[in-house]
Amino acid sequence: MTFKISENINNYINGEWVESTGEDSLHVVNPASGETLTVVPVSTKGDVDQAVKSAKRAFHSWSNTPVPKRARVMFKYQQLLMENADDLAKIITTENGKTFADASGEVQRGIECVEFAAGAPELMKGEVIPDIAQGIESTMYRYPVGVVAGITPFNFPMMVPLWMFPLAIACGNTFVLKPSEKTPILAARLVELMTEAGLPKGVLNLVNGAHDVVNGLLEHDEVEAVSFVGSQPVAEYVYKTAAQYGKRVQALAGAKNHAVVMPDCDVEKSVDGVINAAFGSAGERCMACSVVVTVGDIGDTFVEKLKEKADQLKMGDGLEAETTLGPLIRADHKDRVLNYIDLGEKESAKLIRDGRKDTASNNGYFLGATIFDHVNTEMAIWKDEIFAPVLSVIRAETLEEAIALTNQSDFANGAVIYTDSNKAVRAFKENIDAGMVGVNVNVPAPMAFFPFSGWKNSFYGDLHVNGKDGVNFFTRRKMVTSRYF
Ligand code: NAD
Repeated sequence: MTFKISENINNYINGEWVESTGEDSLHVVNPASGETLTVVPVSTKGDVDQAVKSAKRAFHSWSNTPVPKRARVMFKYQQLLMENADDLAKIITTENGKTFADASGEVQRGIECVEFAAGAPELMKGEVIPDIAQGIESTMYRYPVGVVAGITPFNFPMMVPLWMFPLAIACGNTFVLKPSEKTPILAARLVELMTEAGLPKGVLNLVNGAHDVVNGLLEHDEVEAVSFVGSQPVAEYVYKTAAQYGKRVQALAGAKNHAVVMPDCDVEKSVDGVINAAFGSAGERCMACSVVVTVGDIGDTFVEKLKEKADQLKMGDGLEAETTLGPLIRADHKDRVLNYIDLGEKESAKLIRDGRKDTASNNGYFLGATIFDHVNTEMAIWKDEIFAPVLSVIRAETLEEAIALTNQSDFANGAVIYTDSNKAVRAFKENIDAGMVGVNVNVPAPMAFFPFSGWKNSFYGDLHVNGKDGVNFFTRRKMVTSRYF
């Protein structure tokens, strides 16, 4: 591994690792120990300008590089990512806190995005009707849009950047990545491996930092498109601001995913599914299950089993083999979550399992699995995305009631039903407000070949990431109408 965690992180502009012109920096901390791993610059709008200019310079040559040649870089990149999979997962665990098993799953999901992008020659194909009218041919061609910016969150340091730049670049665009300031180490490694895969300089640039970098990208004349993933308020801000500056934008936001548990479900498997989805990655997933809605008389049994399984989770450093619950990302996030737990008690939800009482041998930002029962839709713990291992249980009499209360949420990323009934599945599938629906699966995140398609306040924009939506987002269509005399 050429990248060492002890080094300070720099920006990557025009094929060179360069220092930011900014004077401020932030500590990148291992959330399992509180120790500083490295320091990341808070870059300036001037740094952004350099990166965008580098991407703009590279655009002409890269967009004219034959598509199969662009795809070949992705094949090489895929190979390098596979060869480095364990190191990449280790970096993710070290800077994000999720367990090594979770991190390895994320590496795999990320690699699948590169595999999808390697299909660029197929994906970039246009369409033709030779006889749209007498003697007239209509042809649609795809072209890249230009310089694309990607702004990413801390919770998937590998998968989310790989939702963006491989496909954008394979489509012929050039790219500026602004990773989360909390997880910049993996982003730097991803860029380093992309260079090793043979990407020409300037095609992929990396600018570290926070708000100023984001605003610099949103306001820059030469950025044509912005792909954003993060929390709801920031997604809405990015969407509105980027649109105001005339850019195309896709902004993926927060979530509050519900699992509806029917009386005829396989209880053991459903409990395992909910435990995995609610407490995996310490609940810091946009596809985490944060609310269970039990239907009919299964409530008491289900809650009892949830508690039993949650008691078995082993909190600790994600690099230790026995760990099943890692830390939260930062101390201030943990404080925010503790406030929600206090609030839940004040709102008279029944605290079935109090994760505040759990202890870990390490010194990080740990919080044990927490379960509230008898939650209702008036409570803030139901309304807000808490983004932590805090699960709410709501009791409903019927499936219709369960669907109706789920649909009251402002968010609509994912929703799952556990049942053995085709009739219930059909009713759920047809009536639930969610862009990604699961039937007896823990986390209904689609693979890279399909769009990641949240609804309502979980997504701002039109074209989603991945799949054909991703290709459409990263390309402009040109229609040619021809008559031959
Ligand atoms: P965040 O919104 O705090 O940060 C995301 C990015 O925006 C970071 O790069 C950050 O530097 C930047 N940013 C933060 N505040 C900003 C501001 N005021 N102005 C400009 N830029 C700003 O999100 P996070 O805490 O890193 O990630 C967790 C959130 O992301 C959760 O809400 C989660 O649900 C969401 N998420 C959604 C999806 C999805 O597919 N819908 C996927 C992953 C994460």
